Order: sequence, then structure tokens, then C-alpha cells
Amino acid sequence: MRYDVIIIGAGPAGLSAAIYSARGALKTAVFEKAMVGGQITVTEEVENYPGFEQAISGFELTATMRAQAERFGAEFIEEEITAMGMEGLCKVIEAGGKFYRAKSVIICTGAHPRLLNVPGEERLIGRGVSYCATCDGALYRDKTVAVVGGGDSAIEEGIFLTRFAKKVIVIHRRDELRAQKIIQERAFRNPKMEFIWDTVVQKIHGETRIEKLELVNRKTHEISMLPVDGTFIYVGILPSNELLESRIDLDTGGFVITNEYMQTNVPGIYAAGDIRHTVLRQVVTATADGAVAAWSAEKWIIENYDSFEVESAKQ
Ligand code: NAP
Repeated sequence: MRYDVIIIGAGPAGLSAAIYSARGALKTAVFEKAMVGGQITVTEEVENYPGFEQAISGFELTATMRAQAERFGAEFIEEEITAMGMEGLCKVIEAGGKFYRAKSVIICTGAHPRLLNVPGEERLIGRGVSYCATCDGALYRDKTVAVVGGGDSAIEEGIFLTRFAKKVIVIHRRDELRAQKIIQERAFRNPKMEFIWDTVVQKIHGETRIEKLELVNRKTHEISMLPVDGTFIYVGILPSNELLESRIDLDTGGFVITNEYMQTNVPGIYAAGDIRHTVLRQVVTATADGAVAAWSAEKWIIENYDSFEVESAKQ
């Protein structure tokens, strides 16, 4: 199978790239191994994506983006990519036992939650340890839950959890939150929210389910036990960079380095959205990245192929 542009990942960055690429009459395929929409699908209320006076759910927003991309002819392939390489200028993707070739590739693989990496965490995932309040919050009606982290995700999701839980205890390793001020103020005003400062979780206890968190105060070194019914961990995100072409330059955190054209160091390969080394990871920045990447890919194809042979024109 041959395409002009292959987009890897169908979050907001990939969907936006697909809209621009397909609308530009480039034969476009979008690969997604899990759920179209990416990380934002679990966000119940996206309040800061321009154009929606009232919040819209991440699921609805990305489902609409997909329909828009399909309207212009983008093809969605639900397969996990198992290898990525090059044949001269051509990019080769292996997925589901088949090979797909493209003139240009746009990497939009996004990011995933960072684990705390403490004893008990992995064993108790799905048994009280969660990384998704939207998915699991309703299980904690009238219960006491902890949220670990002090960023936008921890505080926004903590506020969301107060809809169900009787108490939400935020455990943060410093004495000041990283989250945006408007979100912080909302949390401080919420009577169901409590804060434990300068503290980290060093162990999660429980036999068949979570029972308590072992905490250590980073200033006093005092150890304490906090009984909880559930714990939601939001301590940042890691790049989903497995299986990327090995020559692509990454920063020390593993995020793909691009220039302002979303171009990586490998000709014809672009990156957009959360996978990219960037200062802001939002739906609006991801979609903007996707548009720039698709525009750049189109320019690169025109400049690097003898005549502008659009694959779709040959079919
Ligand atoms: P983040 O901004 O990186 O925050 C991670 C938080 O976890 C920080 O408070 C950090 O503490 C803490 N942390 C990291 N490692 C830890 C560890 N081992 N133990 C305990 N605490 C630890 O991550 P995020 O909140 O997931 O947000 C990711 C990106 O998405 C950000 O750019 C954010 O602005 C964006 N986002 C935006 C919105 C919105 O605008 N509505 C919503 C969600 C996410 P320190 O503060 O001490 O470093």
C-alpha cells in the first residue's frame, strides 16, 4: 500500500494533520493502535479549546475531528505499528503483518502517564490505583481518594473526583502547586478537597485492593499512613516514542525534536502534538502542530518528487 502521507497516531495532532493532508488531496492514512482521539478522550470537559463557549467532551471533539478528516478522504487503519524504516526517501511502516509506504510520515504518537514507580503501584492498578478519573471516578462514590501530583491534570481531575468522592486528598511533593492559578483557586475553594504538602508516596499497601498509602514528608522525613479507597496518579507524562525510526533525534526526556515546520532531523518525517519537544501540551497546540506538519509534508513532497504525483490521482 502506498500513500503520500502516513500519520501515526489519531489524537488531536494526528486528526488535524489528517484534515489538512487529505483536504490537500494527498492520499492519507492514519494509524491508531488504540482508540481514535488519544489522551484527551478521557477528559470530560475541554473548556479551553477555542470555538466552544460551553465545554465539550474530549470524546465528542475528537470524534468530530475524525469525521471531518474522513469527509476529505483520510483512511483510518486500526493497527499497531511494529516497525518503521526507510528505503531511500521512502518511509516504510510495518503494521499487522503488512508493509505500508509513504513519501512523508507525521509522528503524532502522543504521550502516556508517568508511573510513580513505588512498591505496590503496578500490582494494584485497577484495584484502587488509577491514572484516569474520568474512567474510574464514579467507582468512588462517598469514598476517600488521594490524588498524587500538583500539575493541571492532578488538580483538574481532583476537582472532577469531588463529584463522587466524599473527600479528595491531594498529595504534592512541594508546598506550592504547579497547576494554573485559576484551577488552583477552584480547588482551594472546594470544601471536599484537602492538601498534604511536601510529601511523597513511598509505598502503596493493600492485599487484594488498595488499603493505605505510606507517605514521607520531604522536610521532616516523618513517615505516616493514609487510609484511602483509591488513588489517582498524575505525576506527568512520558513520550510514546517506541518504534520510531532510530535516526530521529530526541531530547533528553525522549520527546522528538523538531523545528518550527514540525520537521525532524530526518527528511520527510515530521512530528506534531505531545510527542514533540514543546512548551505547551494542549489540544489547541496539538491541532496547530498537526496543520503545520501537514503543510510542511506537502511542500517537502512537491520539492522532492520529480513531478507532484499524488498517490490518490493514480488509483
Ligand atoms: P505536569 O505539569 O508535568 O505535572 C506533574 C506533577 O507531578 C507536578 O506537580 C510534579 O511536581 C509532580 N511529580 C512529578 N513526578 C513526581 C513524583 N515522582 N512524585 C510525586 N510528584 C511528582 O503534568 P500534568 O499535570 O499531567 O500536565 C501535563 C501537561 O498537560 C502540562 O503541560 C499541563 O499544563 C497540560 N494540561 C493542561 C490542562 C489544561 O490546561 N486544562 C489540563 C491537563 C494537563 P512538581 O510540581 O514539584 O514538579
